[in-house]
Amino acid sequence: MPKFVYDFTEGNKDLKDLLGGKGANLSEMTNLGLPVPPGFTITTEACRTYLTEGSPPAELTDEVSAHLAALEATMGKRLGQSDDPLLVSVRSGAKFSMPGMMDTVLNIGLNDQSVEGLAKQAGNDRFAWDSYRRLIQMFGKTVLGVDGELFDEALEELKHGKGTHDDLDLDAADFQALVATYKALIAEHAGRAFPSDPREQMDLAIKAVFDSWNADRAVLYRRQERIPSDLGTAVNVCSMVFGNLGMDSGTGVCFTRDPASGHQGVYGDYLQNAQGEDVVAGIRNTVPLAALGDLNRPVYDELLAIMEKLENHYRDLCDIEFTVERGKLWMLQTRVGKRTAGAAFRIAIQLVDQGLIDLDEAVHRVTGDQLAQLMFPRFDETATKNRIGKGMNASPGAAVGKAVFSSPAAVEAAARGEKVILVRRETTPDDLTGMIAAQGILTSRGGKTSHAAVVARGMGKTCVCGAEELDVDVKAKRITAGDVVVNEGDVISIDGTSGAVYLGEVPVSASPVVQYFEGELDPAQGDELVGAVHRIMEHADGASRLRVRANADNPEDSARARRFGADGIGLCRTEHMFLGDRRQLIEDLILADSAADREAALDALEPLQREDFRGILEEMDGLPVTIRLIDPPLHEFLPDLTELSVKVALAGDAASAKDRRLLECVHRLHEQNPMLGLRGVRLGLVIPGLFAMQVRAIAEAAADRLAAGGDPRPEIMIPLVGSIQELEHAREEAESVLASVAGTARTLIGTMIELPRAALTAGQIAEAAEFFSFGTNDLTQTTWGFSRDDVEAAFFSRYLDLGIFGVSPFETLDRDGVGRLVRIAVEEGRRTRPGIKLGVCGEHGGDPDSVHFFHEVGLDYVSCSPFRVPVARLEAGRAAV
Ligand code: PEP
Ligand code: MG
Repeated sequence: MPKFVYDFTEGNKDLKDLLGGKGANLSEMTNLGLPVPPGFTITTEACRTYLTEGSPPAELTDEVSAHLAALEATMGKRLGQSDDPLLVSVRSGAKFSMPGMMDTVLNIGLNDQSVEGLAKQAGNDRFAWDSYRRLIQMFGKTVLGVDGELFDEALEELKHGKGTHDDLDLDAADFQALVATYKALIAEHAGRAFPSDPREQMDLAIKAVFDSWNADRAVLYRRQERIPSDLGTAVNVCSMVFGNLGMDSGTGVCFTRDPASGHQGVYGDYLQNAQGEDVVAGIRNTVPLAALGDLNRPVYDELLAIMEKLENHYRDLCDIEFTVERGKLWMLQTRVGKRTAGAAFRIAIQLVDQGLIDLDEAVHRVTGDQLAQLMFPRFDETATKNRIGKGMNASPGAAVGKAVFSSPAAVEAAARGEKVILVRRETTPDDLTGMIAAQGILTSRGGKTSHAAVVARGMGKTCVCGAEELDVDVKAKRITAGDVVVNEGDVISIDGTSGAVYLGEVPVSASPVVQYFEGELDPAQGDELVGAVHRIMEHADGASRLRVRANADNPEDSARARRFGADGIGLCRTEHMFLGDRRQLIEDLILADSAADREAALDALEPLQREDFRGILEEMDGLPVTIRLIDPPLHEFLPDLTELSVKVALAGDAASAKDRRLLECVHRLHEQNPMLGLRGVRLGLVIPGLFAMQVRAIAEAAADRLAAGGDPRPEIMIPLVGSIQELEHAREEAESVLASVAGTARTLIGTMIELPRAALTAGQIAEAAEFFSFGTNDLTQTTWGFSRDDVEAAFFSRYLDLGIFGVSPFETLDRDGVGRLVRIAVEEGRRTRPGIKLGVCGEHGGDPDSVHFFHEVGLDYVSCSPFRVPVARLEAGRAAV
């Protein structure tokens, strides 16, 4: 029978699936002998049962009773005991950290009797009644679903009546009155009384935490962070310690290293006479952690020793929450801390140099997404800027946009296609939608551990927080900074790397990591970040089995791809070479109605193509270049039917013969579903000479390169093949052209696998193909029956809401469906032709998760846009170590 409750002494850090991150780490710290308030964890399994069956497992009540009894024995007092109550917190804690997204209830165990006992024990009436009203407020909002504003308003009214703005001016009697008001609010709005039975409080709070797994903001956060929706949360029941018992108490958050730069040191925030929630919410401004050294040296020294112990134990940056209760230090939480992308690379290499981890582990400690973030542009250092303030550099990057002052405004503006910066005094979890919609986030209050900072870092979004010189008036939608006033809609620029805030648009420049990939920055020259990226990339390249090629259609992109580490070109889309001025030449070809006209059109195209191919083969000398024969949906190369019809109709008799002929042709070729129409190999088989012209241009370009002493390695790829017969026709034509060009290079002929039929008959197709390249864009489109050009905007957001998929299948490969077809084709293709070369060239080739899949199924290479090449290289290495 499963065990649903674990004492903190029973778990360990590796049980995150079962105990959630917080529970597993509380256990780990308990077992390390650190001062953790005793408690127990209810497993994610219990939560999953509750979520699927509507009630918790039958055994849970008894197990909770047994663990509560043990906790009461340890603490020497009972939950809610009237003369000396044990109080507990009930906190959520999922496998993956979801800061502030789920519920927590503190001070459980207080009622009209035990509040007196607490007052006596603490020697502090005010504290006891304040704690009691906090319980009723939190319980009313999160467990009983009463609108939180009602409690806030009652508190404001009370303060107003006393002529103050400050909670600290309220005394015990005020809080006692507030307790009565809050209870009345609950009775009125929840349809039941606030429960005075401590155990009932606890049981209801546990259920509320389970339910909060499906709260809107938690669902949205999981989607954003790609956290699976079926994990459920654990629940931690922990004996309360109080940081708000006076000036010898307090609460804080600290990091063993700077989560922005990675540098070792004492980083954190401390708030005297406060509870943890006050720090995370950024409600009052904190002091730097070092100030705790002056307030209480022994506690500070103990904390530093624990920080060191934790970092060495976890072999990573730890982020820690602690409370000081009347001069005694308590550890409330630790976890491997979130960090910026730059810090992830720096820390990984610092830990290697300290001998704590090896390079394989370092490669695992960073991700392709983080590398992509480091390749974002930064503000141009040489530009003149109008700085209006400076805050903390909470999450790096350069963001420019119109100032907006609320989450809904950010969402609306983003929906109109506008770039915005979300400006708030401080953010709360309710601002999540606005944070997602915005380019960046700016707050005037709160430290690096405030909600805005933590969430923005997690999302990789630029964030400046605690810019105190800025007076943010959310109601008036205005920032005032000295003489400068920024109104809603005015453009501002924020620098998440330095913390600066500028009025107007600041130009952006390339990142040093891009300069390194471009070969413009020497990694030995001392930039710590570039050095770290270089060492990790070198190790990843050495470990990876999967090669990385680029999708490029011109010499410049090919050259960049090579500088970025591509092992060749995996997809040269030849139709891209016919855009712009050359579109007319294709139009002439399509319109040609005699063999002579067609030949003239092809003759005009061939030298241009040859020159393109020569340039690409030169840039990729010695490396394979897969050139895909033309695959244009025809509508992209012909005038729009409606526009042309209107033009001809308006011109009447005066319409030119050419336009009439064009209209007739456009009518004839008009397709309802051009993506499923005359494209790819079908076009090559229907328009005589088109493929032959391209093959000749490739062969002649290769011959030129050979004659010039080069090492051209062209590969010809036939697109949109669904049957071996199509491929055989195209192949025969290509082979005879290749044979007719003297002195050309050995040229492989292969095909794309981008139709389900091709995947399912890959065993046959491999007889005529020396390589396969999976076109996962079309394969996704045709497997799902989703138009790749339309559906994302049309209805994917609803599908994401419904959880039909966690991420668009055009972004991350759908392993179950499209992936299954890939597996079938790999197996059957290899069975027919054991040495067949296998690659992928759809957009998924640069997507981290998909790269791991392609490694697993045993492809030889992935191909992606030149800018994604480093990301794919890193992920190919990560998949292999
Ligand atoms: C594909 O379909 O995945 C592919 C690479 O081809 P295109 O995107 O050009 O259709
Ligand atoms: Mg395709």
